[in-house]
Amino acid sequence: MSTAEQVSTANGQTFAYSYSDPWLESVPDVSIWEGVNRSIDRIYQDLGSRQQLQQLLNDCETETVAYLVVRRLEELGDSIQAVSDCLATLERLNINLIALDETIGAGDHSIQRSDLFYLLANIQTSQQRRRLRQGHARNRIKALPPPGKAPYGYKRGKERYTIDRTTAPIVKEFVEHFLLYGSLRGSVRFLQKKYNKKISASTGKRWLTSPVYRGDLVYQTGDVVQNTHAAIISRDEAAQVDRLLRRNRRMPPRTASAPRSLSGLVKCGACQSSMKVSRVAARRSSQPGKEYLYLTPTACLRQPKCRSIPYDQVLKRTIQCICQDLPPAVSAAALPDIDRIKQGLTAQLSAKQAILDQLPDLVTTGILDPDTAELRSYKLRTEMAALQTQLAQLPPVNLKTIAQVVSIPQFWLDLSETERRFYFREFIREIAIVRHDSEWDVQLGFIF
Ligand SMILES: [Zn+2]
Repeated sequence: MSTAEQVSTANGQTFAYSYSDPWLESVPDVSIWEGVNRSIDRIYQDLGSRQQLQQLLNDCETETVAYLVVRRLEELGDSIQAVSDCLATLERLNINLIALDETIGAGDHSIQRSDLFYLLANIQTSQQRRRLRQGHARNRIKALPPPGKAPYGYKRGKERYTIDRTTAPIVKEFVEHFLLYGSLRGSVRFLQKKYNKKISASTGKRWLTSPVYRGDLVYQTGDVVQNTHAAIISRDEAAQVDRLLRRNRRMPPRTASAPRSLSGLVKCGACQSSMKVSRVAARRSSQPGKEYLYLTPTACLRQPKCRSIPYDQVLKRTIQCICQDLPPAVSAAALPDIDRIKQGLTAQLSAKQAILDQLPDLVTTGILDPDTAELRSYKLRTEMAALQTQLAQLPPVNLKTIAQVVSIPQFWLDLSETERRFYFREFIREIAIVRHDSEWDVQLGFIF
């Protein structure tokens, strides 16, 4: 190695060598060699085989080589024995070794004989770690489930998650309940009541949002691979869940699950206070148990205070206004051309699917080797998952059609309060009570 007498003879070429594991990394950029304070005459790069290393050693036998630069010693072989053999060859040929990433050695990264024992010991643990990471990466690229128990609703099959017929319906009903009522806590309570299955709100949230229930796998790296197993939540349902969750985020907490359709939506236009639903029991004993609902400002600072307004009157007036104001508002709104965006994304998805479908043939005909095909398939599927997410975040395409239906008063009168709440929140951001003396009217703020 780099002893004094060898340094004096050290004029010759400088070669660089890198080994990359195709499961874990790609071939490094040439710029990594810029850290060496000598010009590199030739670069040898191996990806998954040792063909270039062999070529390098052959060239060293026939040409004059002074330096070999690597990142880490372990790149010189797949085992300690192989690394040692390679080092012995380099020593025999009087070639100085520079290892850029090794923290030991002289300041110039050149490796001294005294360092080798320590470095070789390190190689062993580092190679074990690499094999472990490689195992995880292979699982990911073959779209195998990550290690551990299958999520509730699934069983661990040999190669993928399979639907657990006893628990999957519970997850499905939970999601359907959420889609109908739009309340996470309400759906958690429903599950306990119907199945005596206790879950926390955060678990419920995870059920609603986890890619696993939508048929995709997500790995620790954050990569999502699409359609790896049967879904419990369809893509359409998932898109609706995402919209509902976004909408609930805009509502003050607790009102998302309140039973009245107007709760959390109404604001007093005079004092800007939000208005809550309050109940007042009837005084007349002829109607025991009967109660009246009012909308009351929660933080009115005016003197005299803004009056409460009967709930039913506000509801009735809101329905009148929505039927009258919604169609012109929808047609005036500069809604993005959702149809076109959707078509564009769908076209990209099917183009990628078409490539995916060709891969098995390309392997059979020997154009691609199985490893390359798996890597390609993995990349395509993560790209498709990203497109699917974009697609799911689009607003419902048929807003104009929906607007026509919901502009008929009878539509609203036929609904339960729960259903009404669901539709109100699809369109209305806020209902302001505008007061003129003792008169009042409502003014709707639409979401779009
Ligand atoms: Zn007020």
